[in-house]
Formats: sequence, structure tokens, C-alpha cells
Amino acid sequence: MNRNQVLPQVQLSADPSALKRVDFCAPQSYKGAGFLSISDLPRLAEEASTVVSGDGFHWELETHFEDSPGAEPRQILNLGLEGRLHLICQRCLQDCAIDLDEKRRFILVTTEEEAEDFPLEDEEQEPLVVSQQFNLLETIEDEVLLSIPLIPKHPEGFCEPRASVFGVEDDEEAPVERENPFNILKNMKKN
Ligand SMILES: [Zn+2]
Repeated sequence: MNRNQVLPQVQLSADPSALKRVDFCAPQSYKGAGFLSISDLPRLAEEASTVVSGDGFHWELETHFEDSPGAEPRQILNLGLEGRLHLICQRCLQDCAIDLDEKRRFILVTTEEEAEDFPLEDEEQEPLVVSQQFNLLETIEDEVLLSIPLIPKHPEGFCEPRASVFGVEDDEEAPVERENPFNILKNMKKN
């Protein structure tokens, strides 16, 4: 019998603080969605150059069990992230909106040893060590941080013009310094 039909599916709360303690060892699966603003994600808030209304990330998540031959069924977690934050553009040094739309798939394990059994660099088999009080909020934040570009930039041609380069023209020659007329008078009196 398919394990998913036997186990209850629990609706996850969209409240950010409830996401800090999720029991992934209980015999149940999860489903949920919500929105996290930049202020809910302190490490991301440190990276953000500015926060504009609407900045933040929609998340969507579900877990289920998959049969694996000769072993206990594996618990799979699918996570979707979609949203925006602002970073400094490394070309023009102005605020730049970065849009993310990411999908992740994890195999949930309960020990580091189990996680080490999975080959590295295999995105389809990425293990995630979970617990009875797993901090899902931190994991969502980790995934956003891993998804932001190393060198954020506006799309080609969308940078702010730089005043120092294209602005002030410098054709006129500097005025020749003339001797102060009062100094001329002083010198005349001396003579
Ligand atoms: Zn730019």
C-alpha cells in the first residue's frame, strides 16, 4: 500500500515563527505556502541594499514518501521559492532588483552519516538532515542566500548613468590666475 495514502497530511502554518520548529520525524507529510518579508530573514536583510514594498519571498512546500527498493520509504521535500530583493549592482553601484524563482528537491535524513551516503554534486539526491524540531525558516533563508548571484548586476543596458563619467563637461580652460589688485597697490606704495 502507498504510505502517502495512510499517513495524515498536515497543513504547515504560514507564520514565520511556526516554521522554526517543524517535526520531520513524525509519521506524517506536510503541505504549505506563505510569504516571508525581508525582515523575517535576518541574514538576507543584512545583504539587502534597500527594501522596497513587495520585496520578499513566496514559498511553497510539500513532503511525501517515496518507496526505495530494499529500504525504508524515503521522505522527499519539494520547495519552491519565488520573490525579489534589492542588492547593489556591481556595474553602476545603484540598487538593483534581483528576481529569484527556484525549485529544490531534498531527501530528508535524520543523521549526518546518512547524508554522507549520498553522492556530492547530485542535485536530484540532495540530502537534508532534519529533526523533530527542524528550523525550516533557516533552510528557506539558506536556499535564498545560495540562489542570489555572486556579482549582482542590472540587465545589460539598464544601469544608471554615472555622472562622473558622462555628466559634467570639462572643456573650458581654468581661468589664468591674476595678481590681486590690492597687492599691486601695496607694491606701488612700497616703491
Ligand atoms: Zn547597474
